[in-house]
Amino acid sequence: MKFYTLGGCDEAGRNMMAFEIGEEIIICDMGLQLSNLVLYNDAVDSMSLDEMIEKNIVADPKQIMDKKDKVKAIVVSHAHLDHVGAVQYMASLFNCPIYGTPFTIEVLKVLMKSARSVKEPLRNKFIKVNVNSSFTLPSGIEVEFVNVTHSIPQAAMIAMHTPEGVILYANDFKFDNRPALGQRTNYDRLKELNEEGIKLLVVDSVRSNLKRKTLSEIVVKEMLRDVFIETDIVNTQAVLITTFASHITRLKSIMELTAELNRKLVFLGRSISKYCKAARNAGIIDFKEKGVVIAESPSEVNKWLDMVNKNKKEYIVVCTGHQGEPNAVLSRIAEGRTPFELKEDDKVIFSSEVIPTQVNIEARQILDAKLETFRCKIFKDIHVSGHASREDHRDLLNMIKPQNICPVHGHVRLKEGMIELAEEFGYKRGENLWVLPDHEVKEF
Ligand SMILES: [Zn+2]
Repeated sequence: MKFYTLGGCDEAGRNMMAFEIGEEIIICDMGLQLSNLVLYNDAVDSMSLDEMIEKNIVADPKQIMDKKDKVKAIVVSHAHLDHVGAVQYMASLFNCPIYGTPFTIEVLKVLMKSARSVKEPLRNKFIKVNVNSSFTLPSGIEVEFVNVTHSIPQAAMIAMHTPEGVILYANDFKFDNRPALGQRTNYDRLKELNEEGIKLLVVDSVRSNLKRKTLSEIVVKEMLRDVFIETDIVNTQAVLITTFASHITRLKSIMELTAELNRKLVFLGRSISKYCKAARNAGIIDFKEKGVVIAESPSEVNKWLDMVNKNKKEYIVVCTGHQGEPNAVLSRIAEGRTPFELKEDDKVIFSSEVIPTQVNIEARQILDAKLETFRCKIFKDIHVSGHASREDHRDLLNMIKPQNICPVHGHVRLKEGMIELAEEFGYKRGENLWVLPDHEVKEF
């Protein structure tokens, strides 16, 4: 069995890894490097794939291109863009289906409506596989989607049942024991996989330096309640919340809290609209049916911001822009490019954290400085991560006892926690603990 680290091993982003098992290759994930993507924005749609590779926006698949006919499946673990965002640009290099859970496939279909994809539609078939079920490749290898909790619906660990044992691709996950939407991680199945024997664990380690457990999403709902409803000693006018567009669970919590306030909920921005459509199409939640206004185009967004501005106490606004993206709704508000005027009695809630890349850090500093000039109330970091911390990783290792471990999803500095923990469990670097850079091939 050969493991190709095409992307996502040296950095948090553009995840793409391939496993060659006998005569077949399975590609797990095909993601974007979002911090490089935002540098080019709309120009990406007119770039060639080679240009996107050269600009480090997508992973470089060159290591497997001479055997591309062996690729029998592109399997996507969940719908975050750093895992699926490159499918629309790269999947057609391979003559095989794309497998994902229903929500993930619906997100891919919504993404495919970009100008470029309409011009060059993908030939690959989309195949939906529910969590906690599997499909079989021509050689008989079973590929299973094990339900895990993360910050997006229907995330899965991918278990590939090879003759040499199970390869478990666990990228990304957290262990949320009180998920606000969906089921808990399928711990029973993970224990069964341990009985079968796990040859290799490829594991999201981006938060492994944090010596704690990642808290449940239910905790964020209470944090939100605190700043949203109960921190209202002085009269609040407008409430603007910005969060990850793909975080359907978070949006649902906000909707439930809004109902307690008797205000109308308005979602503003293109990416929120896209993920809400996918959630509706996958039968997870239909926000529109529940009375939420969803506005997508800048003119529609402005129309609603004008209405909110005239009756600030009647609305709660959820908008894009938590990373300080220059053209997102919150940046446009902060620059006075919309009819909405921020005032001292307004609240701005960041239900997010800064994704620690240089581009994001700088963009957020600029946005924060602009917001502060309005002297409005600002609440930052009303958020818990979707990624496992050290104690979650400890639980995972105790449950599955893999023969080999390969930490991924981040620069080596971010993966140190996982390395330290694995060494605590008795794993040895170069023997059964593999810290691989991108563009490496490792035979097991
Ligand atoms: Zn993710």
